[in-house]
Amino acid sequence: MMEKKRVYTFGNGQAEGKAGMRNLLGGKGANLAEMNLIGVPVPPGFTITTEVCTEYNETGQEKIVAILKTDVEKAIKHVETLMNSQFGDVKNPLLVSVRSGARASMPGMMDTILNLGLNDEVVEGLTYKTGNARFAWDSYRRFVQMYGDVVLGMKPANKGDIDPFEAIIEKVKQAKGVKLDNELDVEELKELVAKFKVAVKTQTGKDFPTNAYEQLWGAICAVFGSWMNERAILYRKMEGIPAEWGTAVTVQAMVFGNMGEKSATGVCFSRDAATGEDLFNGEYLINAQGEDVVAGIRTPQQITKIGSQRWAALAGVSETDRASNYPSMEEALPEIYQELDALQTKLENHYKDMQDMEFTVQEGKLWFLQTRNGKRTGGAMVKIAIDLLHQGVVDEKEALLRVEPNKLDELLHPVFDKDALKKAKVLTRGLPASPGAACGQIVFFADDAAKAHAEDKDKKMIMVRIETSADDLAGMEAAEGILTARGGMTSHAAVVARGMGKCCVSGAGALNIDYQQKIVEIDGTILSEGDFISLNGTTGEVYAGKVETKDPEFKDDFTELMQLADKYTRLKVRTNADTPHDAGVARRFGAVGIGLCRTEHMFFDGEKIKAMREMILAENAEGRRKALAKILPYQQADFKGIYRVMAGCPVTIRLLDPPLNEFVPHEEKGQQEMADSMGVSLRYIKQRVDALHEQNPMLGHRGSRLGNTYPEITAMQTRAILGAALELKKEGVVVYPEIMVPLTGILYEFKEQEKIIREEAAKLFAEMEDCIKFKVGTMIEIPRAALTADRIATSAEFFSFGTNDLTQMTFGYSRDDIASFLPTYLEKKILKVDPFQVLDQNGVGKLIRMATEGGRSVKPDLKCGICGEHGGEPSSVKFCHKVGLDYVSCSPYRVSIARLAAAQAAIENN
Ligand code: ADP
Ligand code: MG
Ligand code: MG
Repeated sequence: MMEKKRVYTFGNGQAEGKAGMRNLLGGKGANLAEMNLIGVPVPPGFTITTEVCTEYNETGQEKIVAILKTDVEKAIKHVETLMNSQFGDVKNPLLVSVRSGARASMPGMMDTILNLGLNDEVVEGLTYKTGNARFAWDSYRRFVQMYGDVVLGMKPANKGDIDPFEAIIEKVKQAKGVKLDNELDVEELKELVAKFKVAVKTQTGKDFPTNAYEQLWGAICAVFGSWMNERAILYRKMEGIPAEWGTAVTVQAMVFGNMGEKSATGVCFSRDAATGEDLFNGEYLINAQGEDVVAGIRTPQQITKIGSQRWAALAGVSETDRASNYPSMEEALPEIYQELDALQTKLENHYKDMQDMEFTVQEGKLWFLQTRNGKRTGGAMVKIAIDLLHQGVVDEKEALLRVEPNKLDELLHPVFDKDALKKAKVLTRGLPASPGAACGQIVFFADDAAKAHAEDKDKKMIMVRIETSADDLAGMEAAEGILTARGGMTSHAAVVARGMGKCCVSGAGALNIDYQQKIVEIDGTILSEGDFISLNGTTGEVYAGKVETKDPEFKDDFTELMQLADKYTRLKVRTNADTPHDAGVARRFGAVGIGLCRTEHMFFDGEKIKAMREMILAENAEGRRKALAKILPYQQADFKGIYRVMAGCPVTIRLLDPPLNEFVPHEEKGQQEMADSMGVSLRYIKQRVDALHEQNPMLGHRGSRLGNTYPEITAMQTRAILGAALELKKEGVVVYPEIMVPLTGILYEFKEQEKIIREEAAKLFAEMEDCIKFKVGTMIEIPRAALTADRIATSAEFFSFGTNDLTQMTFGYSRDDIASFLPTYLEKKILKVDPFQVLDQNGVGKLIRMATEGGRSVKPDLKCGICGEHGGEPSSVKFCHKVGLDYVSCSPYRVSIARLAAAQAAIENN
């Protein structure tokens, strides 16, 4: 049997690996190999595979060294030959770096050691070889420091604590009266090395290793070990990177940017990562090594002249000052710059994407040390994809696949001003429930917010609540953002805020709200009504005071991207909207219909709630009908408003769904008001409210159960829905109403409702002497409905999967209480993700697939869609495409995201 290959060499235009092997060689190792293959100058070296990292973590240092010994020694020979020098040799030493690199880039998470191979004799050899003692000793002191920190564990455990080596440097600098590291002379550098070694001995009890191979093994194993350091584990958790992947280790011949004025090091991007502008840019430092550019020890200079001039304008530096003191690389090292520019273009063309690169210039010779696809903002992501398409680098499909749907969100909401954010103080964190930025004065009650808004339309408010309910809608509408102490990502506040495109931070547990005194205490800070507070709904951060925001701008490239998406997509994207305003927003984002219009909000404000409560109090059907007759004109007007905005589109309207209990006041003050306005006693109201109380309202008297016990409600709503459409028909506005029965579990539950709807429609059409086409269908949100879909489809004309309830009932998790155990479940990996955010394809998805197939087995053209929160989540949208749904429906601000995900699904499944 062939031994497993663990070490891959590269150098001098050849490589055993290549870009496609990133799983085995890590991103860095794979790209170093690839750069060799395409003729980009890279110092020779070798990469030890990610699989060895796993072996290391299982077997430990001793075994791994034994396994790798022959291969690594052979690979070092290979580098020695190419570099014409010897590892550990006193006269002609080869120095190497030992670098980490996982499959996915984890910037700064693991460790790198530079200048390995030095000791007290070798440093003299290096001095002799280069004729540059300062350089040799600078390299040596850096090596001892990095090795001490990373391999010998001298790095302080706490972020705030000072690095023991930095402390020594500070002391020496102070004694000599200098500010910068590069102002230290040879003698001082020697002093540093000596003191460093003493510190190592004192702290670890061992001498600093002098043997080159001993140093190398220590470093290799430390890099493997750093995969398991706390920082890396935390980062992986955040980014969803599995621990099994492991890191590769690359050992590579050193090249030196710190050999004098003809040497430099830098970082560059083939395009602007913040804006996407197609402009080569980056920073460099003369006579510096590795991390110096990002470490902020010296201020780096710009690589291009135009970048340098832009920088000077921002920094208030005059052109003469700039040109003489902060010249660009283009000006200071013009030949190297030309070469660098040509190679960055070559790399971008090769990888067909924006590149983020590291390079070093050693005495006039340019070397590349890393390239990768650069991270970028949402705006840059769209611009770069469209630019690459126009430039003929990628085709339309590839351009669409380059855009990460969720990242579009950044483009759609107001954002914090970057400079303002830097100065802001974080009070606490909650869940990033609805993205965007908001800032305003604290208000606790919906009616206060609505009143203030009526008086001053420009007043900016943040509504702060323990949790929200349908009562709070007007206040949420009036506010810039919503902050709640309880509730998860699918809490009322979160769902409604996302629908409104309003920023929301939910479940901020540190909030102590006192409604009586109208104050909120957050970790000792007490804020009152009227105080300013700012929310970042994208990160969940809550800031004290005013942090300025700005509106997003829509650029042509975004519009073009969305048109392109439509060209490839099959799945239609509708929206969940209850108001003309929301419907309008969604249409502008490209929604082609309403998939869910909830009607409960139409029973709330002003006169409507009064009539609704009258209905609830009524003793019999007659009384209820009388009260409902008062609501009818309001609902009809509401539907007309929505239809107008959605002219030409299908509009799915759901009949009343929530339990009646949500429409009555629960505090005595409200009950007294209700009693007064209805002319009955408080006791009577209390009795009625008590009678409506349910142990489990979400599994109680709601949905079609309501419509079947109070058929008058269904009849009234049918009349409003169809009556509105008939009136608009006279104006020449065509819509396609689809009446949707909520919470069906049994065929006959649906049939009963359908009968009422059709009878009322027939009556109305006769009265009006006119008719319109409409459909009657049902939500599929109870597992039993999914299981008996073939029966339900004998009557229903469409299915709409209500995946919030369906998830709730399939898992048996209350979505309002999941926050109490979800974090533990995620931690223990019992759940990979929150199933209320990302559709559970194995379970809930199976029901969806089954129901769609079942329904279509009796009605082949049965229209099927989804209207839960999942309709705007990319992986769930892709699933909906695969099971053959006709549409997804999502909140207005997620329409673009769903459209893009739908196009990607079509491309990926072709
Ligand atoms: P990270 O993944 O944190 O960026 P790197 O392995 O890229 O770590 O290395 C850190 C720094 O050291 C980078 O600036 C890199 O360019 C530099 N560096 C790494 N290896 C060498 C080398 N062989 N010669 C010169 N500089 C190097
Ligand atoms: Mg790097
Ligand atoms: Mg439901």
